Amino acid sequence: MSKFWSSMVKRTEPYVPGEQVIQQDIVKLNTNENPYPPSPKVVEAIRVEMERNLQLYPSPTADDLRKTIGRQYGLAAEEVFVGNGSDEVLAFSFMAFFEPGQPIRFPDVTYSFYPVYAKLFDIPYEEVALNTDFTLPVDKFFRSEGGVILPNPNAPTSLYAELDLIEEIVKNNPDRVVIIDEAYIDFASRSAAEMIHQYDNLLVVQTTSKSRSLAGLRVGFAMGSPSLIEALVRIKDSFNSYTLDRLALVGAQAAFEDEAYFNETTAKIIATREQVTVELGQLGFTVLPSQANFVFARHERISAESLYDELKKEGILVRYFNKPGIDNYVRITIGTDKRMARLFETLKEILTT
Ligand code: PMP
Repeated sequence: MSKFWSSMVKRTEPYVPGEQVIQQDIVKLNTNENPYPPSPKVVEAIRVEMERNLQLYPSPTADDLRKTIGRQYGLAAEEVFVGNGSDEVLAFSFMAFFEPGQPIRFPDVTYSFYPVYAKLFDIPYEEVALNTDFTLPVDKFFRSEGGVILPNPNAPTSLYAELDLIEEIVKNNPDRVVIIDEAYIDFASRSAAEMIHQYDNLLVVQTTSKSRSLAGLRVGFAMGSPSLIEALVRIKDSFNSYTLDRLALVGAQAAFEDEAYFNETTAKIIATREQVTVELGQLGFTVLPSQANFVFARHERISAESLYDELKKEGILVRYFNKPGIDNYVRITIGTDKRMARLFETLKEILTT
């Protein structure tokens, strides 16, 4: 703390991201990245752009990318906003739609960045307790004073709520914005984006970090009615005109255009996830039915904390949250079949000693 700090800095409690270790032989299953590299078409688009255009500012409106993303969901470019990772899109959304003095609601077990933004922007919040099986108590989100934000599938639980439940929440907050954070939706089923033309208070946020293998490029996006998108653009243009650089713009666009690659890698991850769920069960784990690119699991005999430590000693990183209610679970990102085989070998050793 310093006398030079603004009150905004003083009240921050920054988010702590999962460990990023650069070590060749480490099996990194802790930050829900895609184990497969991006499409070769992404790499090529970035190479060409780098050679030709890096001396020029990027497009401040990102129209081409917004059109391309919109096409996927039957939306116009005016219904799409793009930003530097969905984290930035979420931060802008807090500024654009939530007010100091009006408490917003989000689940008590959820993405731990939400309380960080709330504190930064001085927005009060209520943490709604999930049901004991981690499902959403839908009606507890009705008629919120300030708005609602929740991930679907939820993180770190991996559970997906069917669209009719999400629709109930949107319907029962007609005068407040409901943000559905769909970082993991491509590993689940239907996106709430299909309801955007029905509800002007619905904002759906997604990312290229997970299903499109672009965590390192930082491209997230939001979809909603033109007036919600305009609010986000007003915030961005009061902050930084060029939040996405030229490489990010062309790389993300190429990722959306290579649908075959996206379908193939996503299907592989889902297949591995189903296999991993069965095998963990055989080793005595309880695994929540995941619709994401990670699983949330606990073991009847060994604590999550010692499991995390033991795996780390063997060069395998998973995520452990030291938080009441979930401190007996580890979150394991789905890797390649080869990396998951290494996880299972190590788990078997740990569990027999
Ligand atoms: N929302 C959720 C639920 C997440 O788990 C993550 C990844 N940490 C994000 C948003 C942010 O992803 P990114 O900024 O890479 O788009």
